[in-house]
Amino acid sequence: MKRKIKQPEVKCPYCGRMAVLRDASYVYKENALDKYLYICSGYPECDAYVGVHAGSLRPKGSLANGDLRHKRIETHRLFDAIWKNGIFSRKEAYRWMQDTFSLNSSQAHIGQFSDYRCDCLMNECRKVLQNNHVRTA
Ligand SMILES: [Zn+2]
Repeated sequence: MKRKIKQPEVKCPYCGRMAVLRDASYVYKENALDKYLYICSGYPECDAYVGVHAGSLRPKGSLANGDLRHKRIETHRLFDAIWKNGIFSRKEAYRWMQDTFSLNSSQAHIGQFSDYRCDCLMNECRKVLQNNHVRTA
């Protein structure tokens, strides 16, 4: 099976090296969320990677190191709580995120968020959840 798909150039924002597309088993022993990852070519010295959208070569966002990966997961958990608790529909929640941070729809993905923007979104999510009496602990 020969398919000519141009692999996008993905750079590591931490060390500037190129990221390489690898099987997720390269970093995960088990329970990988994604089948493939873009991993910094400096890994494991530089611990930065990002998942790949299933069935494509598109990275889910920018490469993230351990701290940012955990922060994005935590941010997603708070954000998802908004629509899972029915405060907004999922679609409305993304619209709210876009409006709150003046993002277009392609930027409104937590996978693209920096450490700082994760903090901002978590604060906004906590406000919405608290105003609607949803416990966030
Ligand atoms: Zn790197």
